Amino acid sequence: MIENEFEYDFENRMSAPEYTPADEDIENSLRPKQLTDYIGQEKVKENLSIYIKAAKQRGEALDHVLLYGPPGLGKTTLAGIVANEMGVNIRITSGPAIEKQGDLVAILSNLEQGDVLFIDEIHRLNRTVEEILYPAMEDGKIDIIIGKGPSARSYQLSLPRFTLVGATTRAGQLSAPLRDRFGVVLRLEMYTPEELSQIVHRSAKILNISVDNEGAYKIASRSRGTPRIANRLLKRSRDFAEVKYDGVITSEAAESALGSMEIDELGLDSIDRRLLMTMVKNYNGGPVGLETISAAIGEESVTIEDVYEPYLMQIGFLARTPRGRIVTPAGYRHLGINKDNTDNTQQTFDL
Ligand code: ADP
Repeated sequence: MIENEFEYDFENRMSAPEYTPADEDIENSLRPKQLTDYIGQEKVKENLSIYIKAAKQRGEALDHVLLYGPPGLGKTTLAGIVANEMGVNIRITSGPAIEKQGDLVAILSNLEQGDVLFIDEIHRLNRTVEEILYPAMEDGKIDIIIGKGPSARSYQLSLPRFTLVGATTRAGQLSAPLRDRFGVVLRLEMYTPEELSQIVHRSAKILNISVDNEGAYKIASRSRGTPRIANRLLKRSRDFAEVKYDGVITSEAAESALGSMEIDELGLDSIDRRLLMTMVKNYNGGPVGLETISAAIGEESVTIEDVYEPYLMQIGFLARTPRGRIVTPAGYRHLGINKDNTDNTQQTFDL
């Protein structure tokens, strides 16, 4: 194993695309504020800029927008950009944070004309709360019932026109009535290493970090197509560069930082490898069900679906079949295993 200066911490897995509190200090300063600063996602940007222009010309609020795609690809950032470009305020909340109907009523009734309401993880809203959203999104009205039993009275509250921006990692889990109320549905794609390189250079400039082109590309190509991971790896590589490489993130400095985090040349970390390896060793490469994989590697099935699988599928190492997940021949090759001779699993990887 490579010399390890930092303990590998599974809870704060460096290549996990989900937001962790440790990201907070840099994330806000790194968020682009305008569409022109938002790198990549050309199709999404092109569509959004047209809708924004049209809404502004008509002096109306933008239609409700649903953004979907894996964590860390820039959904929250985009919601902030929409508000900024429309010249309105943004209120940020999330599906699990809105527990009761009253919580949502309070949020909605405090909105001002044109405001953006961003609901992250919108697929996790509970149904009773969701029902308040339908008339609010469609007619700008909410029905509130005050009191209980025979003395209960129903009131209707008119809301200013607002734009709901919903974000989800799983569009398929959204109920049909909610999904149908979004006029604009945009899917975010994973970023190319070239786009991530630009993001690394941009972030380095803001954070005052020196990085050369090779160093930036190395970080970019191991960031699983995800800006959040690229920013995190940049920050960690800076530590290495400062202590061991005269402060500049060169290819060598990045290599040393990534090696210490056990991130391989494709951005896979020890958990990805454990997942693939378990499927190969215990289930002959699949097909194997999600729940079985989850029990075997001790990770929640939701995490596997949202966090590990999208990238492993994107790079063609894992595939979904009607009978379960399988490791592809490319996945076998990456692990250094000959599919027809699984005896050599032991010698290639020490899990
Ligand atoms: P999500 O809401 O999809 O989980 P975020 O919007 O929080 O992702 O983005 C995570 C981080 O990645 C942010 O700090 C932001 O600076 C950066 N980021 C995301 N997309 C881009 C982009 N297109 N260009 C530059 N930076 C980006």
